[in-house]
Amino acid sequence: MLRLLTVYKRPLSASPKSQSISTSRLFTVLAFESSADDTCVAIVNSEREILSNVVIKQHDEHERFGGIQPYVALQKHQRNMPIAVKRAFTEANMTVNDIDGIAFTRGPGMHGCLAVGANAAKSLAAALNKPLIGVHHMQAHALTPLLTQPTSEIPQFPFLTLLVSGGHTLLLLANKIDQYEILATTKDESIGRAFDQVSALLEIPWNKDFGPGAALEQLCAKGPPIALVSETGSSSKSIERTVGEFPRPLKGKLEFSFAGLHSHIDRLVKNKETWKDFNPEQVKYILANGFQQAAVGQLEEKLALGMKECRRRGLEINHVVVSGGVASNTFLRKRLRACLGELSPTNPIHLVFPPPALCTDNAVMIAWASMHRFLAEDFDDLTIDLRPKWSIHDLRMD
Ligand code: AMP
Ligand code: ZN
Repeated sequence: MLRLLTVYKRPLSASPKSQSISTSRLFTVLAFESSADDTCVAIVNSEREILSNVVIKQHDEHERFGGIQPYVALQKHQRNMPIAVKRAFTEANMTVNDIDGIAFTRGPGMHGCLAVGANAAKSLAAALNKPLIGVHHMQAHALTPLLTQPTSEIPQFPFLTLLVSGGHTLLLLANKIDQYEILATTKDESIGRAFDQVSALLEIPWNKDFGPGAALEQLCAKGPPIALVSETGSSSKSIERTVGEFPRPLKGKLEFSFAGLHSHIDRLVKNKETWKDFNPEQVKYILANGFQQAAVGQLEEKLALGMKECRRRGLEINHVVVSGGVASNTFLRKRLRACLGELSPTNPIHLVFPPPALCTDNAVMIAWASMHRFLAEDFDDLTIDLRPKWSIHDLRMD
């Protein structure tokens, strides 16, 4: 059990709207997340304790498709969800009687996948007569540091959020717990997908513990596989010259684009004739590094533009939250820290990352993002529909 510091207290005067909730103890949420390829169930309470966090990954099943295959993901969720539920209760040493409310990811995500978590949540809520809340997946990523940071370091609204995941690349202005403005989004693919695709193009081996993005980062961090001068005398400099400049898309604009980086690598990899005199491992190392630097460089540029935009509006931003799977990248963390240091050398901006295990998809974040609504007794109906496409901008529009 991970014990964190207290932040939410149940209002003692609460009067339930439809379900009966005991006011004499803290509030405990059972949450489901199945929007993409991870089957997740967690139990979290209002004292910021993570009582269990089960994530069953499906990397292996999707590797041969080069991306998430919706029907395969749906089948695996159906098989894994009951196992995840059982494990979550065992890990927490709890029974359904200890649960006060049930939360699930309402969207955005793949319809069939979302439905597995939603149906499990709704059925349990109906059978147990517990309140139910449907959560926005990206809001949950953005709010994770409000759970994981020590109380003295909890981000204060308004703050900036950079969400870098397999499905999204978003720069958000978080004005309130339920009010977000999209400052920048991607016009083509997400940064996570670009990492995955480039990793596949470079044939970087990965496994169920380290997916393709993490494997690419590891390759870059290892350093050159052998001295960067080959038998033919070709140096890293001449490899880099051959690689050329990486595109810097939409420079000066509050918009992301990663398809150009990905296709730049695609073109280079396919042009086998160019590389015949070079050591393939060196080429792989330089291409992977070039891509990672260009992708993270784009995040730095857009973050700087976002900060400038907030300043233009007279908003004082003291915290930047970076979350989503790609936020577990150590190179990214170092570069963004340096970038914010340069942007505001005298008035340090706090850069906040959830722990890597809570950067990728999980149900802990879903439980936590539902907590303020449970405590305010702002429940959803059992007939609540899914929102596979759901802009965070429209969070409170039902
Ligand atoms: P999410 O959609 O939030 O679960 O994040 C999954 C995405 O994050 C996938 O595209 C992963 O390849 C990517 N990812 C995970 N770890 C890393 C890493 N260390 N570096 C780059 N990308 C990563
Ligand atoms: Zn996610």
